Amino acid sequence: MEKERLKRLLKEIDGKGYKSYKKIEGVYNFGEYILFIDHVQPDPFAPPSKLRIRIPQEIAGFPYSLFSNESREIALRDFLTRKFYSAIKKISKGKRGSGKSGIISIDKPGQEILERTSVIVKREFVEVRFSVGLPAFGRKISSKNAQEIFFKEIPEIVKESLFFKNLNKAELTKHIEVTEDADFLREKLPQLNLVAFVADGSILPRKSGIEDKPLKEGKVIPFKSPEELKIEIELPNNGKISGMGIREGVTLIVGGGFHGKSTLLEALQFGIYNHIPGDGREFVVTSPWCVKIRAEDGRRVEKVDISPFIKDLPFGKKTEEFSTEDASGSTSQASNIIEALEAGAKLLLIDEDTSATNFMIRDRRMQRLVSKEKEPITPFIDKVRQLYRDYGVSTILVMGGSGDYFDVADCVICMVDYLPYDVTKKAKEICLIDKAQREKEGGESFGKITERIPLPESIDARKGKKEVKISPKGLYSIVFGKTTIDLSCVEQLVDVSQTKAIGDAIFYLKKYIDGKRTLREVVEMVMDDIERYGLDILSKFPVGDYASFRKFELIAAINRLRTLKVIQKR
Ligand code: ADP
Ligand code: MG
Repeated sequence: MEKERLKRLLKEIDGKGYKSYKKIEGVYNFGEYILFIDHVQPDPFAPPSKLRIRIPQEIAGFPYSLFSNESREIALRDFLTRKFYSAIKKISKGKRGSGKSGIISIDKPGQEILERTSVIVKREFVEVRFSVGLPAFGRKISSKNAQEIFFKEIPEIVKESLFFKNLNKAELTKHIEVTEDADFLREKLPQLNLVAFVADGSILPRKSGIEDKPLKEGKVIPFKSPEELKIEIELPNNGKISGMGIREGVTLIVGGGFHGKSTLLEALQFGIYNHIPGDGREFVVTSPWCVKIRAEDGRRVEKVDISPFIKDLPFGKKTEEFSTEDASGSTSQASNIIEALEAGAKLLLIDEDTSATNFMIRDRRMQRLVSKEKEPITPFIDKVRQLYRDYGVSTILVMGGSGDYFDVADCVICMVDYLPYDVTKKAKEICLIDKAQREKEGGESFGKITERIPLPESIDARKGKKEVKISPKGLYSIVFGKTTIDLSCVEQLVDVSQTKAIGDAIFYLKKYIDGKRTLREVVEMVMDDIERYGLDILSKFPVGDYASFRKFELIAAINRLRTLKVIQKR
């Protein structure tokens, strides 16, 4: 249909009841682009209407070199989403009328550059997905406002943000090149036997605990690698950079309180993502198989074999198939580790600040007072080397509180006034002079990692009359059928659009659950599908608010589903 038809329709329904907006669902040719009105909201207070715009590449004009590989394509799509967002802010009048009337919106990216469904770029076209609160006063359609949105604001927003010729080329190129370099760096880590890299000059601290932008006020100390750990790498776009390489094995981060230990670890935990230019963490990269581990008391655990860490609980409770509706600090931390290993983690990040003390250490005096027979927990200190030796899983651990860990560390980094020093030699000398008095516990090997098989009936998204009820409630929570999944301790999530995609992915993966495949196998099949066909497969109709996520966060969400039932693979 031609765009004039939309204009006519809008005029016809002016002043009528909101339901009449249904008539405008359809596809309209605006000359320079095609407008898809995919879904019209039932009333002005409901979630806004879903729209797409597709611009042929002959008009959008993006050269293929800007999306010729995966890194570039994702960066370009992210950039265009940001530009569309700021063009809305600049051009649109915003709310006019009742409820969400008049509000144009698109997914808002944060500091990370994630793959998103908000913008799709192909050789043939650029597509943007956004929403509009179709305007009304009360429940009466306001045609004048609707026309202003469709025939004035949206065309301007599109022109300003999605036509190559109108964009800042230097800014766009930088966005793409930084992303490509960060991916290159991350992919290079295994070849160099590294699990993480922090570039010299990086700005690690954030504005505040709730704001992810770089700290600017006061004295900010840029990162500087100790000589011993310094590595130089040639990047495809930004040339040679230097920084600290963290090798495989066991790395300890020590130092006085408030000297920047947790800040370094947090930068590493988000080094699985690429960051926008100016973030300060552009070239802080971590192994994509890294999982942040913490205590999470209160979580549910379903038949996890935590016996490598915990055996013989009071009253003969078995830990080979440990289930609880309300885990303790130590059992939750043990479960989090075993689940991460089940999922294929190769690097664990642990901070003493968020760990259960009795899970991390048990010193000589305590060993004397409470005999091993009366202590179910084998502390992490006795398992961390075996984990690396038996399974090739490295650990980076913040530990300012116990020097017993010097014995098991390959590398000890000390933070002093926000700067890292390599104190490995000194720590090892101390080990010789001042031998640790504690006895090793928990046997000679790490123990078996038992995979689990999810059962189909246990994943049910129905609620009342609704066939499927799944929706994110903020970043860390998903309503899934009759239950709510609590993700507040799944720290590597960064974007509510990831949360949304994860919720739908749990529903999608039901089709692969057959009572034989393990959780990991099922999730990897889903990840393969997404890799091949894109995030769009998670939804029946095109949505603009999915962002990419890792299998670790998906598995973490399933593990926290309170209805989950599994059998162990023996
Ligand atoms: P620790 O874990 O060693 O106790 P934190 O990492 O929590 O210390 O850091 C303490 C404070 O110092 C935080 O408020 C953090 O923002 C700030 N900080 C960390 N690194 C730097 C830095 N490089 N420059 C300036 N301030 C920093
Ligand atoms: Mg700390």
